[in-house]
Amino acid sequence: MNSEEFKKRRRQLMRMVGRGGIVILPAASVRTRSRDIEYRFRQDSDFFYMTGFAEPEAVAVLVPGRANGEYLLFCREKDQKREQWDGLRAGQEGAVDQYGADDAFPIEDLDDILPGIMESCSRVYYTMGMYSEFDSRMAEWVNMLRSRLRRGVQTPHEFVALDHLLHDMRLYKSRGEISALRKSAKVAVKAHKRAMRVTRPGLFEYEVEAEFVHEFRQNDASNSYSPIVGGGQNACILHYVENDAELKDGDLLLIDAGCELDYYASDITRTFPVNGKFSPEQLAVYEIVLAAQEAAIEKTVVGNHWNEPHDAAVRVITRGLKKLGLLEGSLTSLIKTAAYQSYYMHRTGHWIGMDVHDVGDYKVDNEWRMLEAGMVTTVEPGIYIGNSRKVPKAFRNIGIRIEDDVAICNKGPDVLSKGLAKEPDAIESLMNGT
Ligand code: MG
Ligand code: ZN
Repeated sequence: MNSEEFKKRRRQLMRMVGRGGIVILPAASVRTRSRDIEYRFRQDSDFFYMTGFAEPEAVAVLVPGRANGEYLLFCREKDQKREQWDGLRAGQEGAVDQYGADDAFPIEDLDDILPGIMESCSRVYYTMGMYSEFDSRMAEWVNMLRSRLRRGVQTPHEFVALDHLLHDMRLYKSRGEISALRKSAKVAVKAHKRAMRVTRPGLFEYEVEAEFVHEFRQNDASNSYSPIVGGGQNACILHYVENDAELKDGDLLLIDAGCELDYYASDITRTFPVNGKFSPEQLAVYEIVLAAQEAAIEKTVVGNHWNEPHDAAVRVITRGLKKLGLLEGSLTSLIKTAAYQSYYMHRTGHWIGMDVHDVGDYKVDNEWRMLEAGMVTTVEPGIYIGNSRKVPKAFRNIGIRIEDDVAICNKGPDVLSKGLAKEPDAIESLMNGT
């Protein structure tokens, strides 16, 4: 993302906030993995969306109309010794020159400077509840200003949840963001292809997972969530992440894996036979899920509401399960009583963007949100048939999900993860190198 786009976002947010408002955005904190070892740092999505600044220990402040600078960045000072251990820092000079801040201050001076700026504002926009330590600092600043109230110091009298404004902005992706999401999806597509090519009976789930690590890191990407690599009955566990079982001849393998590239996520699922050939029962269930996904993608268009793709998938799945004899009754009543939920228990999609489960409300004024150009969602129906004795043996332990990332645009659904086989024939020939 170029610096012009970050600038545009700040301008847009400041326009919405207006004079008298102040936006305060803290960076993510470094988290401990174990003892003195830290996780690799990943910037807070809201903070990065507004700043493009990837360092910890920083606070961004936007004050629309402030004469001495509207965009202030508090960040770590340059420190040769620390930088030799922990990596380079932009410092205050870099914050201004490279990141477009109007002014920058050492993060240590936050307590001295920020309350004074807040004092002249009437509304504070802040994402309460994200970082409890920062929440309590915020409370301290406000209390301090209040205690000086009698001496004529003004205090902000209104706290506004920043999420509503910021997350609504993030929901509508720019052209640059769609292209970042497409790049992220392309890397994930390549990784899924690798996985299909190597899979064979006798491998372990983690050995297939390793293909994702390889492809992701080769492209400067990393997992956007813990990959699910589940063979046989593990495919029926929705959040299976152990990935440590042996892949068996005759089983299906479900892989739900995506990457994060330049802060944009992909989220793709494919299900295929471990031995490279679908059994008739596997194929029958697979065709239903595929038809459900295609029906749902067809409904992922401008002018439909959020739930229409889900409704379409539910219809196809329920009809299919009825045809297979796994559900009995009329289509209408099976849908009405949600009988399909024994086999399809999750929703058909979620927003995707900088976060895999991206921000943005699914309902507005208690009504499903209308789909608009620039929104990006996953479409991921599935059927999970457990170990129940009520089910004919050949259908047991079949777990299938097919998931793609779809941008809603005026020309129709734009499948960002296209190029990855999902027709049974195409999968089989990819696996068998034919
Ligand atoms: Mg997924
Ligand atoms: Zn998903």
